[in-house]
Amino acid sequence: MPVQRTLSIIKPDAIAKNVIGDIIRRFEENGLSVIATNMTRLSAVEAGRFYAVHAERPFYDNLCAFMSSGPILAMVLEGKNAVTLNRQLMGATNPKEAESGTIRADHADSIDANAVHGSDSEENAATEIAFFFSDLDLHSKL
Ligand code: ADP
Ligand code: MG
Repeated sequence: MPVQRTLSIIKPDAIAKNVIGDIIRRFEENGLSVIATNMTRLSAVEAGRFYAVHAERPFYDNLCAFMSSGPILAMVLEGKNAVTLNRQLMGATNPKEAESGTIRADHADSIDANAVHGSDSEENAATEIAFFFSDLDLHSKL
């Protein structure tokens, strides 16, 4: 399995619930290392740029409003198979469909407020990491 990097975001709902530590614990216990962090707050325009791939979807405006409604924690995770492993730990987009024990099953309230973001491919991970971080911000443990 290749070592990969992926972008994780703890969304405003999970920040408000005070579960940053619980979410990061799940990453670390499953072999992923946090190699960069940025707690920030996006404007709606910035959220729109991040989610530009969804611009034509009916939920786009709500998504941008939600992602700019409070602080977020953007992180780079590094480890074997990091992209897919992070997606497995997150669970399905709709928490009603998320497998028990996943982050979204345990912390998400709805398909809008679903606790975390994770890159869905290595290519998108590179683009999304570059949105929040420069190479100098990444502190690999390898
Ligand atoms: P994921 O976050 O699991 O990769 P998507 O990339 O499909 O999911 O969608 C991005 C985000 O947009 C989701 O996490 C969710 O917050 C929101 N979203 C997706 N589909 C819907 C929907 N049908 N209704 C409302 N919000 C949605
Ligand atoms: Mg996605």
